Amino acid sequence: MKDKITHLIRSNIKNLKPYQSARRIGGNGDIWLNANESPISPLFKTNITSFNRYPEFQPNSLRIAYAEYAGLLKEQILITRGADEGIDLLMKAFCDPKEDAIIYCPPTYDMYSICAKIFNIRIKKIPTFKNTWQIDLEQIRLNLNKVKIIYICNPNNPTGNLISRKDLITLLKLTLGSVLVVIDEAYIEFSIKDSMVNYLKDYPNLIILRTLSKAFALAAIRCGFILANKEIINILNKVISPYPISTIISDIATQSLSYNSIQNMKERVLTINLNRNWLVKELKKINLVERIFNSHANYILVKFSMFEKIFNKLWQKGIILRNQNHKINLKKCLRISIGSYLECVNLIKEIQNFSNI
Ligand SMILES: *Cc1c(COP(=O)(O)O)cnc(C)c1O
Repeated sequence: MKDKITHLIRSNIKNLKPYQSARRIGGNGDIWLNANESPISPLFKTNITSFNRYPEFQPNSLRIAYAEYAGLLKEQILITRGADEGIDLLMKAFCDPKEDAIIYCPPTYDMYSICAKIFNIRIKKIPTFKNTWQIDLEQIRLNLNKVKIIYICNPNNPTGNLISRKDLITLLKLTLGSVLVVIDEAYIEFSIKDSMVNYLKDYPNLIILRTLSKAFALAAIRCGFILANKEIINILNKVISPYPISTIISDIATQSLSYNSIQNMKERVLTINLNRNWLVKELKKINLVERIFNSHANYILVKFSMFEKIFNKLWQKGIILRNQNHKINLKKCLRISIGSYLECVNLIKEIQNFSNI
């Protein structure tokens, strides 16, 4: 039957290239180093057995648990379906389509621009400086007209660097009272001292995104948080869907924030950081490696000669990395999530085999 209905699609959606998630790209194998997930899973059980009632709008015990973990009041927390929903809700609440703009600073996480395209919000792309990956404050300052939100990822995905705290504070001062600065701290547990959470009290325009998907090893449950002053949280409460967090998810998320689970998370982070240092040390010995960027997260960005052959060879061997070659200033770069020690050993072995051919 000939399709007579899809012409109804909005033109910005018709031309949209959806987010190329690791799961969409696919692959086959045993060693998944392409989505910055935790290689090990903590074990949780749920005792919930009845499901006939809607959940709480914002599950109170989870909200309290995360507020305590973050050192904030529960009124400063909004629970979301992953940090991805946080990115989306902020645009929904603050940006007029076709009128307002966001700023983002590539190479970085793609969802800031994809989400803006879905809403038909204007995008001002202000690349970070090549190789240092620090934000270009001067260009940001010159382009603030009509901007409602600036998205900054810290530590940045996929480059792994931290954004200078001094620059972030300059940015917050520059935009105070006029623009929201959203700092995506999806990976902050790997470098927790660099969180900007203590600045929420000084800067009402600061918003922080967090997630349980990375250091907490709970990507499957889709749970994230927006941290902000309560006036902002109250605005976001107007646009979030009626019952966003299922009872099962809030139960498991709450368990993951118990004292013992947080200790376990911190131990996993230490292990991953050690594995990362080991991997960097070994990669430095390989002559196909042109550059390894310093990382403060659970992945590293590596520039290879013959990057494509390495990527494909590893792919065939069931070791799946993330190709970043198409991104601005990332020619020949692959992103490698830090796996278990054994996975790191296997990866090095395969790259060595390849470089000896
Ligand atoms: C993984 C990731 C997210 C998405 O996190 P979810 O909570 O799983 O939606 C957001 N921002 C960055 C920078 C990420 O890498």
